[in-house]
Amino acid sequence: MPALPPLSFDAACHFIDGRWLASARTLPLLNPSDGSTLATVARCGAAEVDAAVAAARAALGGPWGRLSAAERGRLLLRMSTLVLEQSEWLAELETLDVGKPRRQARADALALARYLEFYGGAADKVHGQTIPVAQGSTAFTLREPHGVTAHIVPWNYPMQIIGRSVGAALAMGNACVLKPAEEACLTALAFAAIAEQAGLPAGALNVVPGLGEEAGAALAAHPGVQHISFTGSVAVGRLIQTAAAQNLVPVTLELGGKSPQIVFADADLETALPSLVNAGLQNAGQTCSAASRILVQRPVFDQVVARMGERYRSLRVGPAWLDPDVGPLISARQQAHVQGCLQRASTEQLSVAAQAPWPDDLPAGGFYVRPTLLAPVAADHPLAQDEIFGPVQVVMPFEDETDAVTLANGTAYGLVAGVWTRDGGRQMRLARQLQCGQVFINNYGAGGGVELPFGGVKHSGHGREKGFEALFGFSVVKTVALQHG
Ligand code: NAD
Repeated sequence: MPALPPLSFDAACHFIDGRWLASARTLPLLNPSDGSTLATVARCGAAEVDAAVAAARAALGGPWGRLSAAERGRLLLRMSTLVLEQSEWLAELETLDVGKPRRQARADALALARYLEFYGGAADKVHGQTIPVAQGSTAFTLREPHGVTAHIVPWNYPMQIIGRSVGAALAMGNACVLKPAEEACLTALAFAAIAEQAGLPAGALNVVPGLGEEAGAALAAHPGVQHISFTGSVAVGRLIQTAAAQNLVPVTLELGGKSPQIVFADADLETALPSLVNAGLQNAGQTCSAASRILVQRPVFDQVVARMGERYRSLRVGPAWLDPDVGPLISARQQAHVQGCLQRASTEQLSVAAQAPWPDDLPAGGFYVRPTLLAPVAADHPLAQDEIFGPVQVVMPFEDETDAVTLANGTAYGLVAGVWTRDGGRQMRLARQLQCGQVFINNYGAGGGVELPFGGVKHSGHGREKGFEALFGFSVVKTVALQHG
């Protein structure tokens, strides 16, 4: 196993008020590619969360709170440059910590830089309105930060999610408390080190690694927090929204999905095919917007399944540092969950259309699962309804446009959908009929789409991050009406 690259921070520390503090309690961080211990990290609890929220509150009344929007933007741009300069280091950390293939980890580091660039450039471009009211009066709106914002993020795309959420919150002048996931938190700490190098004022960003039920729950329930951004599972999303309700604070929930790609018989299959598999298996399928359901119009169903199967049979599974197509899952728990899904498929004799070759030299102790294509699967089968969060895709046929929309909308989720068709009218009809937050037509994912508002409907959550829209979410409107005669 490659060793961790030299760190410019102490991995066992948490970061509060611009200082690295030794943590009394720690947790082991595992390398998913071989199950070895990678580092020891902080296990923060209510006391550290209290201190972090207090530091953030103080920052709002200190140098951070006194910066102009343009100055905040410049700081974010400086952070973006530093992320770019250190992108190989960041990618290395993510490769080892998340078990993410190198190319994908590099893409995440570049996305973090791009988020900081986007929000750095946008910081001074969010304006209020002037509103015509009665004669002799002027009314206008101010967009103000919420105050202290909490950011609870998962392990699957730490850099991207920190970029879209913390980046936007800082641009609007909030002071942030970031709780990374216990399974992978090195790049969250590296992000704090980069913020420090860039000269971000103390307290504007605080990082409290730890367990969800300890640090996460304490942060979500903290009365000093004015907004919560949560990315993670539906079950924890419910807890977060309940905690937010007690303090009557707004919450953005970015939750799971069972996103379909819909392939019509008139689609350009050569363009669609690579995306059908890649968008399902990126990060070993541990992607909220993974294309985990493929809906194919009957006349091309066999052809699409056969071509997807060819791709599955060419996939390389391996440790993240060898930059395979599919790396390990994040943990033994996640591995057991996905293996349980495959066991169920086997017990119920679902049709396995293809599997990836299984190398005999995978590192012992790694959390690998064999990528599997199931086709056809009945639309109401739990494997076609529930998020698996692993390298497993299900394919099902449909007859016509109405059938496709019914199937696509027929789960509890509504995050993303892909549509492959050359018919312009159908493109526009589906864009409106699909119940989800993003519709991609003749593509899937728009290359990451830092600029594009992102979020779900139904059990995929509510609120929007990414794009300019996030700046509205991380700020609140104040109306001023002035009577001047
Ligand atoms: P999770 O909900 O278990 O954990 C996410 C975060 O919440 C972690 O930091 C965790 O420590 C914290 N947490 C756990 N319990 C908590 C509690 N009781 N109180 C407060 N915080 C708590 O999710 P996961 O399994 O780590 O991530 C996978 C899920 O995240 C999937 O469902 C996936 O679809 C979703 N996800 C969604 C998006 C999106 O943008 N919509 C992006 C990535 C992942």
